[in-house]
Formats: sequence, C-alpha cells, structure tokens
Amino acid sequence: MPEPIRVQCCIAGGGPAGMMLGYLMARAGVKTLVLEKHADFLRDFRGDTVHPSTLQAMADLGLIDAFLKRPHSALHRIGVEIDGERLEVVNFDHLPVDYRFVAFMPQWEFLNFLAEEGRKLPALTVRMQAQATGLIEADGRCVGLAARTPEGAIEIHADLVVGADGRGSILRDQAGLKVQTLGAPIDVLWFRLSRDPKDEDQLLGRVNHGYFIITIDRGDYWQCAFVIPKGGLEAVRAEGIEAFRRKVADAAPFLEGKTAELRSFDDLKPLTVTVDRLERWSKPGLLFIGDAAHAMSPIGGVGINLAIQDAIAAANRLAEPLAAGRPLGDHDLDAVRRRRLPATRIIQGFQVLAQDRLFKPGLEDGRAKIDPAPIRLIAHLPLLGRLAARMIGLGVRLERVKSPGG
Ligand SMILES: Cc1cc2nc3c(=O)[nH]c(=O)nc-3n(C[C@H](O)[C@H](O)[C@H](O)COP(=O)(O)OP(=O)(O)OC[C@H]3O[C@@H](n4cnc5c(N)ncnc54)[C@H](O)[C@@H]3O)c2cc1C
Repeated sequence: MPEPIRVQCCIAGGGPAGMMLGYLMARAGVKTLVLEKHADFLRDFRGDTVHPSTLQAMADLGLIDAFLKRPHSALHRIGVEIDGERLEVVNFDHLPVDYRFVAFMPQWEFLNFLAEEGRKLPALTVRMQAQATGLIEADGRCVGLAARTPEGAIEIHADLVVGADGRGSILRDQAGLKVQTLGAPIDVLWFRLSRDPKDEDQLLGRVNHGYFIITIDRGDYWQCAFVIPKGGLEAVRAEGIEAFRRKVADAAPFLEGKTAELRSFDDLKPLTVTVDRLERWSKPGLLFIGDAAHAMSPIGGVGINLAIQDAIAAANRLAEPLAAGRPLGDHDLDAVRRRRLPATRIIQGFQVLAQDRLFKPGLEDGRAKIDPAPIRLIAHLPLLGRLAARMIGLGVRLERVKSPGG
C-alpha cells in the first residue's frame, strides 16, 4: 500500500453534489480530492435539468456565459397535455433571479463542465476510476477513506470526508446512519426515440389514456420517461414489447410512428424510484450531502439542484475554517443538515404528496394511470402555478455562493 494521500477535504462521488462541492472547496483554497468510481461522466438516463437555482450559482461563480455555451435547450414554461388538452402548469418568468428557465443539458455535459473548470484550480484533484471502499476511523472519528483504483488500493487522509456517493451510498451504510424511507409508488422506464425537426414543439409531460410520459428534447432524439407502478416491470414484460409500444403511442400519439424503434426490452432502462433521508447527516469528521443524504423522487426534476444547494451550503459553512486549518466540530458539520433539512423535508413532502395524489388512484389495476385533477387545478390557479414555479425553479431556500475565492 502506498503512503496515504493527505488532503483537507476528500469527497466520495463525482455527481452533481460532489463535483460542485469539490469546485467550491478548491476555489476557497481547500486542498480537495474527489473520487469518482466511473471512468467518465457519460452515464445516460440521469437527471438532465439545470434549474434557475443552479444557473444562479453558475452566475455567482462567474461561469454562466461559458456554461450556457454548452449544448442545451431552454425551457421557460412547463406544459402538460391531458387527454389532448394542453395546459401551462409552470411559468418561470416571475422568479426573482437572472436566469428564469430550466436548461436541459445532459448530465455528462454539466459534470464535464465542472471538471474542466475545476482543472483550473490548483487545489482540486478529481480522480476517476477511484472507488471509495471504506471509511478510515481513528478514536471515534472518520479520518479518511480507503479506495480502489486501477493502480491498486490507496488511502486518503482528510480533515473532512464527504459522502456524495448517491442514493446507493455504501459509505452511509458503513457509517451506520439511520435512513428514513418515505416510499414511492412508481418506477420509471427510460428509453429514446428519434426526433425529427418537424416533431411537435417541446411539451414536457403527457397524460393520455391514463398513461404518463415525459419527453425531453435532446436534439436528434427524444429522451422518454414512462411511469409504471412500483415493481411493475415484470408485468410490463409479460405483456410483451408490442403492448408497451402501444402504451407509449397512447400516451404520446406523436410518437406512434417511432415506437418500432423499441426492438426489445433491452432498449428500456428501468430506474427504481426511491425517496428517503438520513436522520443525521454527519458523524465526527464525516458529512453526507445530495442523494446520499436524501434520495429524491424524479417528480419536479429537482434532485440535481437540491444536491447542488447542499454543496453550496456545505462550502459556505465549512470552506473557510477548513482553509484556515481550524478543526471542524460536530456542531459545524451538523449545521449543514440544520440549514438544508427544512428545504429537503418540504420538497420531499410535496413529492410524496404528488406521487400519492397523482399516481396512486390509478395504480389499482396495475397501470400507473394519473389523476389529472391536481394538474388542472395548478394550471387554472395562477397563484398555485407561481408557487410550483418557485418550488421547482428555486427550491425552498435558495443558497447563494458565499465561499471565498474566485
Ligand atoms: C428516474 C430518475 C430521474 C431523475 N430525473 C431528474 C431530473 O430530471 N432532474 C433532476 O434534477 N434530478 C433528477 N433525478 C434525481 C437526480 O438524478 C439526483 O437527485 C442527483 O443526481 C443527485 O446528485 P448526487 O451528486 O447527490 O448523486 P449522484 O448523481 O447519484 O452521484 C453520485 C456519484 O457518486 C459516484 N459513486 C457512487 N459510489 C461511489 C464510490 N463508492 N466511490 C466513488 N464514487 C462513487 C457515482 O458514480 C456518481 O457519479 C432523477 C432521479 C431518478 C431516479
């Protein structure tokens, strides 16, 4: 085993939470190492939405112009079609920030951008193909991470270890922190279908014949998310691919001529929806943020943005003492949970309410039908629409970058 690597902050996971925290820490002069188990950020069928809160953070960091040069499409309003009727549900025009739209950008673009900007910071190292395998503890305190790399096992010693390793976090299991599961009645099947320039304008959600589909414009293809009842994949398989193609065409009639592109179930990527959160987000020397602290439902597409808001809150609170070499106490680490928990709780509460209210009524016969009444209500009551825009666009508590540097 080589000599342990010594840094001030070691982050497990190069997702939105870990990459943003790594950037902010290094920008404040904290010597930081991010470990990412994959060789690249090229993972498909991940959250793609960069909301106004994250655009504001990019602007605060002076990165917005370069960021918006990356391939993306801008969504100013979220529209839904219900049984052929088009409704505008969310309109971001009234938000009190400079960037009032959602940027649809493949997550790998977003993460590559942060990695490239991060390379300009001498204090930041992002190590790919480096999988955190365990916590290193001494005297009841987490003092580092063990990791596996293609060159062999390594150890990293750090003043602060951050678990940003997503909802399947092995570190939170090892830390023995209690997880509160909130449950989700749905799962999602992701797939792509080709897109012609003459295809309809971008409309995000469609609820037709009782089926719910999201279609995201990715230029030459549609990235589609079809909602099914939790654990319902086997039932979908049993009905056969032709039956599934028909459901897709029922949900989004404009896709009818393309569904043959789904040759088999191998073309579908099932994603299990989970909603949970840790009761405590930290132990001495160790902090969890992002999905590792609170897995979000895809409803509202807010997971990336919440993860980034956690990273900003953590950097605002912890970067300065870390950079100055002051020891971080339990109270400092728990301050991140205290700051972010109310927002997390409220957003997860809305997600669970929406899941239960929208989807559960139609689940009895084994199909994830949707009850359109609440969507119609939001569309017809401007105040509710504004509230939805605020929750989706900015979250409950908007974090602004305060950490020194840049
Ligand atoms: C079906 C579905 C659709 C979604 N759609 C959206 C959406 O449209 N918009 C949105 O905002 N959110 C969406 N979300 C949620 C969003 O994907 C997450 O909330 C967000 O990615 C969380 O960011 P994170 O950095 O905390 O975790 P993750 O994005 O999960 O990143 C964790 C990273 O850690 C790495 N890692 C894991 N274990 C280790 C280890 N041991 N060592 C080193 N690295 C490790 C992983 O490879 C990964 O890169 C969706 C979620 C689901 C399930």
